[in-house]
Amino acid sequence: MLRAALVTLLASLTVVGSPASARTVLLGRSWQGRPIRAVEVGNPAGTRVLVVGCIHGNETAGIAIADALERLSPRDLDLWIVPDLNPDGFAAHTRQNAHGVDLNRNFPWRWRPMSGVYASGSRPLSEREARISHRLILRLHPYLTVWFHQPLDLGWAPGGDRRPEKEFARVSALPYHPMPQLAGSAISWQNNTLHRTTAFAAELPAGRPDQAQVARYVRAVLAAARTR
Ligand SMILES: [Zn+2]
Repeated sequence: MLRAALVTLLASLTVVGSPASARTVLLGRSWQGRPIRAVEVGNPAGTRVLVVGCIHGNETAGIAIADALERLSPRDLDLWIVPDLNPDGFAAHTRQNAHGVDLNRNFPWRWRPMSGVYASGSRPLSEREARISHRLILRLHPYLTVWFHQPLDLGWAPGGDRRPEKEFARVSALPYHPMPQLAGSAISWQNNTLHRTTAFAAELPAGRPDQAQVARYVRAVLAAARTR
């Protein structure tokens, strides 16, 4: 009897957590034609949250957290996940996209021409990948957006609502830092133009996160989202 009940319980848990409940949307393609996908899980009527696993192609730890989030089905959250916004950079192990542009300097807020490591493109949103995420964010207007980066080992919180940022820091154990706004960054664009939304960067430590760390960052995303 007990065993049968356990089997039933496990089966129901599997259904709840199944990726089958996820919806995958093709947002567009990178300059080199690689697909850029978003996955929606949870409750479409819930608090809307966006997680971007990777924007700098040589900072890939967040993709493991994105993958773990895709397997959830939170009843109170409409969770959108973009595992990899920069697949060309990921393939080439570069921070920049295939045009040599740092996507996180290509957004409209205080955009200015920059070259080198932080090359900002020929104009705001000159890059396909930036346009794809810009369009998605305008459509979703997420209460919270978490952008994963590496390797600073801190929560980079420039100008959003401190409650979700501090909750993320508490649960993730990434120290909270109110950092300066960066010209052309996605986060600064969001925090300065989309009212009642907060975006911040989760700067993970270098290296690949182990299972326990992935689980901790997943809990931190959910806790921050639930501050609404
Ligand atoms: Zn980065």
